[in-house]
Amino acid sequence: MSFTLQDDSEVWFSDILENHYEEARSRALSALGQGQKTDTGCIVTPTRARRKVRFRGRQTTAYRFIYCILTRTVAGYDDVIRHRCHNPRCINPEHLEIGTRADNKHDDWDYAAYGVDFDLL
Ligand SMILES: [Zn+2]
Repeated sequence: MSFTLQDDSEVWFSDILENHYEEARSRALSALGQGQKTDTGCIVTPTRARRKVRFRGRQTTAYRFIYCILTRTVAGYDDVIRHRCHNPRCINPEHLEIGTRADNKHDDWDYAAYGVDFDLL
């Protein structure tokens, strides 16, 4: 007997990537299209609050949805989508990467110590 230990988030993304990909992709692209590009290359949403996307019975942040769908990544509960540009409102998938909660904490420390990631400018 073998176990595959999948959490809710993984189950949801797997189902979308396998069975509802085109619908999810157009949803992600339309959310992205509503953003505004800044001079650092970030794409930010006009509202101050983090934009959410509701899809197939579940709600998640727009940047997580956009990143996972456009890069075909299944993110589990413990996976966080990190902002390489340190702009929490940014939804540009090129500025995002997947990591663990522990990585995310380290990013904050690195940011405090070294400032911006100059590769992105
Ligand atoms: Zn950005």
